[in-house]
Amino acid sequence: MQKNIAIVGAGFSGAVIANQLAKAGYTVEIFESRPHIAGNCHSERDAETGVMVHIYGPHIFHTDIERVWEYVNRYSRFMPYVNRVKAITNNSVYTLPINLLTINQFFGKTFRPAEAQAFLASLGDKSIENPVTFEDQALRFVGRELYEAFFKTYTVKQWGMQPTELPASILKRLPVRFNYDDNYFAHKYQGMPEDGYTALVEKIIDVPGITVHLNTRFDPAQKGDYAHVFYSGPIDAWFNHAEGRLPYRTLDFEVFRDTGDYQGNAVINYCDDSQPYTRITEHKHFSPWEKHEKTLMYKEYSRQCEEKDIPYYPIRQARDKQQLERYVNVAREEPNVTFVGRLGTYRYLDMDVTINEALMTADKFLECAKGNERM
Ligand code: UDP
Repeated sequence: MQKNIAIVGAGFSGAVIANQLAKAGYTVEIFESRPHIAGNCHSERDAETGVMVHIYGPHIFHTDIERVWEYVNRYSRFMPYVNRVKAITNNSVYTLPINLLTINQFFGKTFRPAEAQAFLASLGDKSIENPVTFEDQALRFVGRELYEAFFKTYTVKQWGMQPTELPASILKRLPVRFNYDDNYFAHKYQGMPEDGYTALVEKIIDVPGITVHLNTRFDPAQKGDYAHVFYSGPIDAWFNHAEGRLPYRTLDFEVFRDTGDYQGNAVINYCDDSQPYTRITEHKHFSPWEKHEKTLMYKEYSRQCEEKDIPYYPIRQARDKQQLERYVNVAREEPNVTFVGRLGTYRYLDMDVTINEALMTADKFLECAKGNERM
């Protein structure tokens, strides 16, 4: 009898690979240790307020990748949503990412774009030619005052370490704009799945040939029962943490409810140390096409991930690199197993990149299988 394909994890990576393989005629079993699909994108309607809640924190879909946008739109209607983030620091409210309004408000100026650009260049530390750390990157491009107001404390709260210990790549996620554009993302497409992410993932795996086992841990010892395993769990867990635990940050959410509009925006960051949390998210504003009297908020706290916690952000400090490399090397030698996604490859991935990589992984697998048939 022909063996099935096993997919570990029902997040975007697992769901997309399952979808592509099942459509090509494979029989696929998905093993998900949690009681729901969609991984950390899981969304659920709150019974008390009726608000669609991003259970593991906000997820905003944005992409420049045509194939990915076209793919997700096949499985859900995407509603217009633009993420506009406000930031509170030193008792004032600003716009993030740093744009012309932020600069003018912060420095009490009325600069036009070129003036603001020249001004910021004069504040940047030009002695830092090749920024390696988060702090270098900030000092080089925005100077000390903006760095300390918006990035330094927030980053310590978020990552639990000094920005001198973190890579520049983390800050490179955020643009600096010399106009009044306050869209947090610069991508061509942005939106929210109309019925939430779990409904989207449900549709993606609704293909004949796919079975989902919830509340079921996949033991690596079972791999011989399957023709191939796609594993989107933590790479170190597959190898029983033989090289030690890869470090992650996890998030705690303090949920509270109110009536009306609590903060007037989906996301407000708390960039100074006036509050211990990094941000407050008000979930009904992520679905602006829905109307709710009541409202639900998350205060978001970040901390070191312990064994029992859900991993969120891979830390990827320079000193973890060798440990990761050892895992990557053994993973390469693991026959008939492909490691995918944020946890499987230990990278800080956005949803669109995750989906794109899953599509490419499935393409490659199907091409190889075709090649083997021809041989
Ligand atoms: N960041 C910051 N202040 C903010 C927002 C972000 O210092 O108000 C830093 C922080 O270190 C964060 C990084 O910029 O990890 C990237 O921000 P992004 O919004 O991409 O983080 P996400 O919430 O998507 O993880």
